[in-house]
Amino acid sequence: MENLLKEIDQHIDRVQDFPQEGIQYKDISPIFLNPGLCDRIIKVFAESNRGKIDAVCGIESRGFLLGVQIARELGVPFILIRKAGKLPPPVISQEYDLEYGSAKIEVKEGHIKPGQRILIHDDVLATGGTATACAELAERCGAKVEQFSFLIGLSFLNGTEGLKKYTSNVQILLEY
Ligand code: AMP
Repeated sequence: MENLLKEIDQHIDRVQDFPQEGIQYKDISPIFLNPGLCDRIIKVFAESNRGKIDAVCGIESRGFLLGVQIARELGVPFILIRKAGKLPPPVISQEYDLEYGSAKIEVKEGHIKPGQRILIHDDVLATGGTATACAELAERCGAKVEQFSFLIGLSFLNGTEGLKKYTSNVQILLEY
């Protein structure tokens, strides 16, 4: 596991002051140039959730990259959580606060089913606002958030705080 984490770390580009000053952007795209590494990451996420979840919700857009593959490995449905206006109606929307202003995510009506145990997956956990909004959506659909999983967590932003309301199961492979 330690070797895997080291290898993932070596495949993440840090880009200072992108997309705005003061932010260090974690670019995970080099991981997808290495199919063997992708396989191992997917196995880690899948094995810790096997038998425990009924569907994976992936958050647009980088949450789709591993999320759909984790779902496929587990043989469970993959549900797209998209930014407002991307999915055709009917959709269910959830608004959430950003540092300045607000944003909205959406899911197709009927895709999250009542009683489902959901895994919410994204590439990076920063403030936790997006993942929290996704959890809120899932609960409004009558599902239960069983697990959150992220490739990267930015621990100085305390993003896990807001997630505790939904579940204490938060899997983060690399903490920065
Ligand atoms: P948040 O809602 O603050 O937890 O932000 C999470 C979303 O923003 C995720 O979908 C990430 O892909 C993206 N994100 C936030 N901060 C970064 C960062 N430093 N590098 C890359 N992506 C980020």
